[in-house]
Amino acid sequence: MMTAAFDPVRACWICDGTTLLPVHELIFELSAYGVQDAELASYTGSRLALCRCVRCGFAQPAALPALPRYFDRMYDQRWSDDWIRSEFEADYKDEIFAEILGSLARRLGPARRRLLDVGAHAGRSVSLARAAGWTAEGLELNPKTAAYAAQRTGATIRQLNVHDTRVGDGVYDAITLTDVLEHIPDPVRVLTRAASLLAPAGWVSVKVPCGPSQLLKETWRGRLLSRYRPTVADNLVHVSHFSPASLRRALERAGFVDVAVGPGAPELPATPGLRGTLSRASRRAIHYAARVLPGGLHTPLTLNLQAYGRRPAAERER
Ligand SMILES: [Zn+2]
Repeated sequence: MMTAAFDPVRACWICDGTTLLPVHELIFELSAYGVQDAELASYTGSRLALCRCVRCGFAQPAALPALPRYFDRMYDQRWSDDWIRSEFEADYKDEIFAEILGSLARRLGPARRRLLDVGAHAGRSVSLARAAGWTAEGLELNPKTAAYAAQRTGATIRQLNVHDTRVGDGVYDAITLTDVLEHIPDPVRVLTRAASLLAPAGWVSVKVPCGPSQLLKETWRGRLLSRYRPTVADNLVHVSHFSPASLRRALERAGFVDVAVGPGAPELPATPGLRGTLSRASRRAIHYAARVLPGGLHTPLTLNLQAYGRRPAAERER
């Protein structure tokens, strides 16, 4: 029997605070990897606390698996061709992408349209960006989705990590990280790298789930539904849990200025029939309320966060 080892995480990844209080227990269930990766599967049954930093509101696990390349190995999924195509063709995130592209275009002005989508997935956002006049490229780690996105969009989609030196410094006007940062430990490191990839006065967009609201929603679902176990971080699929304040702090720490954090647009699943119509209407209504109510950003109505930050035009602006 292999033992699943962990390395403790003692300080907040965002603010270095060391008062970290447990707010949730997450479990590991990786038995599906039993044949493909027995070492990874041996984490099945382990439990960890998700801890919130009292200083900035960020939540992160009390420890990380000691297994080398744990996250790469967990994301080494052999998705089917049909599923990847359905992810490209599905429109449930289109309002999110449209809001991001529109906000970036307004901030940059008409002449600057070089965009890098980090975590391009099946390529839908790159495709929408190109249709809106951007020169868009993507980074995507999964080889199958990267190949599909390149073939389907005609864009350059590279199967590289954002830290790879082959990704050019200072050449992009905009970088998008949509539903990416919650999957990565030590997110300030990724944001710092994003800042260096941007041209001076370029803008980054970050969209993540709002950690405290998602946990509250899951906790209530667990109370209202019998046999439902609240889950926000199982297998560490979500490893970085941002509050509005900690997302702002992370961007500022990475060197961004003019940071703006607000409620993020919802996903609108294409569920058929009346149920789908009601679900989409309620998601839109909650998002609208979060945007217009005073202080709505800091209420459970904000289920997602959308942030923007600008790389300073010159060093002295910092
Ligand atoms: Zn903190």
